[in-house]
Order: sequence, then C-alpha cells, then structure tokens
Amino acid sequence: MKHEYTKQGICIWCLKGKEKGKTFKNQPHTISRKIGNTPVGFDICDECNTYFGTIGRTDLFTVSPEVALIETYGVLQFLSNAVLDSSLKLKSRFFQYHLSTSAVQPKGDYELKPKFLKNFTRQFKRGIYEVFLQEYHRCTQNGLDQRFDHIRSFARADLGDLPLYFLEEKDAPQMEAADTTSSLSFPENALLLLDEFGFYSLRLMGRVFFLEVTPKAKGGKETYFRKEHHAWHKKGSLLSKLVKLELITDLDFTLRSTATDQGF
Ligand SMILES: [Zn+2]
Repeated sequence: MKHEYTKQGICIWCLKGKEKGKTFKNQPHTISRKIGNTPVGFDICDECNTYFGTIGRTDLFTVSPEVALIETYGVLQFLSNAVLDSSLKLKSRFFQYHLSTSAVQPKGDYELKPKFLKNFTRQFKRGIYEVFLQEYHRCTQNGLDQRFDHIRSFARADLGDLPLYFLEEKDAPQMEAADTTSSLSFPENALLLLDEFGFYSLRLMGRVFFLEVTPKAKGGKETYFRKEHHAWHKKGSLLSKLVKLELITDLDFTLRSTATDQGF
C-alpha cells in the first residue's frame, strides 16, 4: 500500500478524514519547495494541499497564497543580494525593479490594477498563516485544536481577516542571504507565549513577523509587544517600530544601502 501522509486521520484544514472521501497520498510540503529544502508534513489532505498553490477559475485573486509568499520571498531576496551585486535581475511574474527609484513595483498590467496589491497582500498573509499551522502541526500534532479555527477560516476558506505585524531589523541590512529559513521552530518558550498571549513570532526575510494565532491575541496585545520588543532589544537587535501590514509594499520594497540609519 502506498504511504499516506496522515497521523490523526483528519485534515487540519477541512477537518475531514478518509471516511469523508479525503485522501492523503501526496507529499505535503509545509512550506513551498520553491523556498528551499522544506519539511514534509502530515494531515493535510490532497485537496487542501493543492488548494493553497492554485487559483480557481472563479477566484478574484491573480495569485495563490503560496505563490504570493514565494514571490515576496523572491523580491526581498533580490533586494538583499542586489546590495552586493548590481548586475542581478529580478525574476518575477508580478514585479519589476526600477533602477531610477531603486524600488520594486508591480509590473505591466498589474500596475494598472488598483486592487492587485490589496489582493496580493491578502494572499501573502494567508500564505504565512498556512505555513504556521502546517508547521505547528508537524512539530506538535496539535493543529486540530479548535483555537485555530479562525486560521482555518482565513487561510483555507478565505473568510474574515487576520492581521500580520512586523518589525524590521535595522542593524541587519544583509539579512543573512534571506536567512534560508526553511522550517519554523516551536521551542518551549514559544509555545508558552502562544498559550499565554495567542501570538507566534517568526523570523523570515530579515524581519520578525507576529501572527495572531489564537483568539487570546485580542486581549494582551500591548503587554505582548512590549515584552517582545524588550527581548529582541536584549539580544542586540535594533528594531524598527512595529508595523501592521496593510499592503505588501509596507515591507520596504526598496534597495537599502548598507549604511542604514540607526535608531527608531
Ligand atoms: Zn483537507
């Protein structure tokens, strides 16, 4: 019999199992393979696995959650490498690099579509939340917990909205070659913070992202961010002010020089 990628027998996205006709035959990479050598998860049914990487004919979106994540990753990696090598070309379906402004902007038809960046941003956020739940489940096997239901709604069913916050690391202009993050980690400390505050933080593409992963996050936001800022500061990271991502271009889509200004 062919190997099946399931441990609990239920899909973390649609909450259905084999008795409802779901199959678990395809290797579910918890983070798109296009980002690197990424781990293989489980309890992600074939239908949901395909869903995140494709756009349906009736969708309003130009881009799938996974492609939005891959494209953003590509843009930020390009900007980080172009600091060192100005001959680099940006390979992207949706964005181009403008030499005159040293900035990345939507290209061709996309530039003319006012809704493009908004849609792209929503898909990027859904892609990040997708990665979180798949990786969390791979590491803890607790992804079916109902406190993650709103992640299922947002990422899988495209309902509601979840915020994404981030800090830029000002003293890390090279962002360690886009830091080749290809898995998330869930040490005890991160799990405790998740339980207490409902937040999970991840370092990706030279930034620290904050996800509201459980309904608890609504309550203790201020305390949590104060604590986190203090912790990163103690580690020697000089961080920018906290930003709530409204548009993907909030993620500094410009070529940063190595001489970054210090301070907040
Ligand atoms: Zn499913």
